[in-house]
Amino acid sequence: MEIRFNNVSYEYKGIKKSEKKAIDNISLEIKKNKINCIIGPSGSGKTTLMELVNALLIPTDGKINVGKFVIDKNKKNINVKELRFNVGLIFEFPEQQFFKSTVKKEIEFGLKQYEYKLKNIDKRISDSLLMVGLNDSFLNRNPFTLSNGEMRKVAIASVLALNPKVIIFDEPTVGLDDASKNNLLKILRMLKTRYKKTIIVVTHDVDALHKIADHIFVLNDGKVILEGDKYEVFKEVDLLQNYKIKVPKIIEFSHKVFKSKNIKMGYRDEINDLIKDIYRHVK
Ligand code: ADP
Ligand code: MG
Repeated sequence: MEIRFNNVSYEYKGIKKSEKKAIDNISLEIKKNKINCIIGPSGSGKTTLMELVNALLIPTDGKINVGKFVIDKNKKNINVKELRFNVGLIFEFPEQQFFKSTVKKEIEFGLKQYEYKLKNIDKRISDSLLMVGLNDSFLNRNPFTLSNGEMRKVAIASVLALNPKVIIFDEPTVGLDDASKNNLLKILRMLKTRYKKTIIVVTHDVDALHKIADHIFVLNDGKVILEGDKYEVFKEVDLLQNYKIKVPKIIEFSHKVFKSKNIKMGYRDEINDLIKDIYRHVK
């Protein structure tokens, strides 16, 4: 499903009105069937951007194409329900919105909201749990008794149950330990490769996400200041650091070595590959 921003601006109105636009004349295209990461410092507009994609917010200027839907200030009457059926949004700490007594009821609730016609709802629930690596033994568990990582998985499963084409995650690694983070990365990768989803991940956790990012948009003050694949983006270490945007530690290290010792190492996702590089140079 095509997602394209055309000269989009968004300005918060009301009591908390700020002087600057939260989104300031952004044009971009989300890459289909890829993992798109949106990075940038706090307050740069990441959450606003994702809320525009499924029409939780309507642009004050410009328009957004999401498949057949056109979101702009003149078309507030688009079929929001249908749009959100196609574009699933997983908020920061999604598990904080749990309120049912079992995992099954929690996932079922989402399906019923959308008047889900599928006869075999139970199979749908089991399948979506399987997609995040949980089996049927979780169906009757109380969601509040699960570990952080399991809760996050259930929250993701409840969005997957609707089978959206696009899934947007806001800060999905926050509050997870390393094992659960790695698990989440596996799920994201699988959603892309096996289930052909378009993924948008809003994150400041570049150390975790850079491994799986296909395309990165860097936001600052509501503008896209840099975009490209991870190699193109993270080679701009100085620029990013000027904007106080974190770069993955592994890349920061290579950059320091280059600057102080003039030794050039390749772009490495994995620390073990970097160690091999280092051995090669000290031989
Ligand atoms: P990020 O997710 O990158 O931290 P946000 O999209 O939350 O950034 O915020 C972008 C800008 O919009 C910030 O300047 C923030 O203060 C402002 N903002 C966010 N939400 C609101 C709101 N509900 N009312 C007024 N201003 C807001
Ligand atoms: Mg945010």
